[in-house]
Amino acid sequence: MLLLNEINVKGEITLNKKVKIIFTILLIIAVLIVLITINRNKPKEQSSNLKIVSSFYPIHIIAMNLTENTNGVEEVCLTQNNVGCLHDYTLTTLDMKKIENANIFIQNGLGLEEFMNKIIETNQNLNIINSSVDVTNTLKNNENINPHIWTSIENYIKQVETISKELCKYNSENTKIYTENCQKYVDSLKQLKANYDMQLSKLKLQKVICLDEALVYLANSINMETTYIETNHEESTLSADTMKNIIEKMKQENIKLIFTSEENNLNNAQALANETGAQIVKLNSAISGENNKDAYLDAMTKNLEILKKIGE
Ligand SMILES: [Zn+2]
Repeated sequence: MLLLNEINVKGEITLNKKVKIIFTILLIIAVLIVLITINRNKPKEQSSNLKIVSSFYPIHIIAMNLTENTNGVEEVCLTQNNVGCLHDYTLTTLDMKKIENANIFIQNGLGLEEFMNKIIETNQNLNIINSSVDVTNTLKNNENINPHIWTSIENYIKQVETISKELCKYNSENTKIYTENCQKYVDSLKQLKANYDMQLSKLKLQKVICLDEALVYLANSINMETTYIETNHEESTLSADTMKNIIEKMKQENIKLIFTSEENNLNNAQALANETGAQIVKLNSAISGENNKDAYLDAMTKNLEILKKIGE
């Protein structure tokens, strides 16, 4: 009897141990599930390990489109959205801070970012993407290359594709997402270009005075002949001599169109129009604007609506 009792006690002890082991295993599984769930729900910013800096607004809009839904990527613009073009731009302390811990810098290229040496000196490990390398139809203003290539949709598409290709190279883990984003964006841009070709097909070849050097590529892309480019977007007032020369040229060559942009001083355009009877066409050079990834598409769509009215 005594022996049997001992066996019973031992049997109970064994059963208790089994329950404890099963309970412990279940507890470990539960803890693991909780840990995995927490890890999955972590905000993206916490796992950010690649920092991209875009030089200015048009490049920032491209980068916004390409980096959407990528993993561990942070994209910032070096300059403020309203800074406009970067000629003679001086880098601020805040700008330099953005460069210090960045991995990739995306530039327009063709000499627009005159501060590139300083950028490279500040962060020698920085990978530089030059968006203009595949753009071949560059135009010259006197001896200098006009770097405002993005106002031609065709050029802009090349910039998008170049940046996407280079991002895949430097950040291969997001290759699939960059490629899909690029395809989606380029499809929208090609559709817009098709709308331009279709809706402006009646537009005859015309000579135009461009008061903003950024609009020359847009004018060329719709078969306008830019015969005289006098100002850049920083120049607010033209000298009396310059005005006289442009008016003479417009009269001699029967130029009846003036392209100008929001950045330009409209008084110049108005004075020229008063003297020559030319039509003022106010366009958006997509050089500044809202922090919105569709900003380029929106700006160029509005430009199309304006261009359709030429001659009306
Ligand atoms: Zn410029």
